[in-house]
Amino acid sequence: MSFAVNKNDKLQVCIEDVTHDGAGVAKVDGYPLFIPGTLPGETVHVHVQKTLKNYGFAKLIDIVEPSNARVTPPCHVFPTCGGCQMQHLSYEAQLLQKRKSVRNVIDRIAKLPHVPVHEVKGMDDPWRYRNKSQIPFDTVNDRVITGFYKTRTHQIVDTDVCLNQTTEADEVMTLLKYKLQQLGIETYDEKTHKGMLRHVIIRKARQTDQVMVVLVTRHKKFPQKQAVVDLILQQVPNVTSIMQNINTANTNVIMGNETVTLHGSDVIIDRIGDTEFEISARSFYQINPVQTEVLYKQALDYANLTGNETVIDAYCGIGTISLFLAKQAKEVYGVEIVPQAIEDAKRNAQLNGITNAHFEAGPAEEVIPKWYATGKRFDVLVVDPPRKGCDEKLLETILKYKPEKVVYVSCNPGTLARDLRVLEDGGYRTKEVQPVDMFPHSSHVECVALIELK
Ligand code: SAH
Repeated sequence: MSFAVNKNDKLQVCIEDVTHDGAGVAKVDGYPLFIPGTLPGETVHVHVQKTLKNYGFAKLIDIVEPSNARVTPPCHVFPTCGGCQMQHLSYEAQLLQKRKSVRNVIDRIAKLPHVPVHEVKGMDDPWRYRNKSQIPFDTVNDRVITGFYKTRTHQIVDTDVCLNQTTEADEVMTLLKYKLQQLGIETYDEKTHKGMLRHVIIRKARQTDQVMVVLVTRHKKFPQKQAVVDLILQQVPNVTSIMQNINTANTNVIMGNETVTLHGSDVIIDRIGDTEFEISARSFYQINPVQTEVLYKQALDYANLTGNETVIDAYCGIGTISLFLAKQAKEVYGVEIVPQAIEDAKRNAQLNGITNAHFEAGPAEEVIPKWYATGKRFDVLVVDPPRKGCDEKLLETILKYKPEKVVYVSCNPGTLARDLRVLEDGGYRTKEVQPVDMFPHSSHVECVALIELK
């Protein structure tokens, strides 16, 4: 079969659009070609890498006519690294692009062209925002390398700096990289399941500056542990917790079940607003602390609580939104599928002296109907589901019991739009959608939508 385009062709094309994961799209006689690192409006030379029946992939050779929004990516491993997709686009233009992509699904999938999608709330300083880094190690030609995996591979793109992570993460990463061999610590090899150090996880509490380092090892026996602890403490004085996590399994899951303390406390403390959270080696916690506050404030604004409401926080994680809401609501009920996260939520409620937040572990789509069945009633439902969106059964429960208001926090505009359509068909009206940029230079965008009964 022959296409308009064949593998290994070298072509000059115009970029018309961009995909949800940041690749430019050109059409050659109607046949779409995806070209990472290119921008709408650009004329470029490309080398076709792969052709499938309905679309193909090409690599950028050079730019003939650049977009006005193009900037020089500050990071030398972009775009090979795969951690960022949009560093070649100015930050203002990234925000416009993200708004456009949300507008697009709200029109096309939710079929709500009249519903306002506001300007994306972005960051004043969109760098070094990640509070957690999970860094793999490998040894190539007798040299230790660290960095992040190339997209869809387990091949590390070696680097000493990541401009999205904290400077402490850079320091710990490079310190270990250049000292491991001297200390006699071998890096773990995924293929042969040999070696010792698998990953290093660095977490920082932005409000208190406390840093936790987790060394994930293949064995519990770790003769060099004191030497590593001394080295880290000497270099990065605000490290308050060093943990060893043991992962003996032949798997690409990062952490194992056993964690021991090598130095300091087994938690670090952070604050969102004036609520404190204890973060342990394994707890889930929002990645961008600055924008988390923006996101939660938006959810709280839309909930518009007076103090008399009973509120559900579905998919509550460690209860961060719940505790934020609890200060302005009568009662909050949080539900989350991971039991450990619910334990954290309860402890965090105690830590903050919050007594009107209640937590239950289980699937939201089962626990919430059960609450209703026992006669409980709710004024506002906040949902913050994973990428696949709300479970159908949860949407059915909403349509059956009809709480006045739903505040939908979403990390995937496509499934948000799909669920908005279901709620609209069941008698709800979407009032507005506020996108928030939680992950600058990536193609992700988070949204908060306000939905009310007709
Ligand atoms: N609201 C939290 C976490 C949101 S992430 C925060 O802002 O930090 C989505 C959460 O949904 C994850 O913690 C995941 O474990 C949980 N989850 C996934 N499926 C679920 C289900 N069916 N019922 C309840 N929780 C679920």
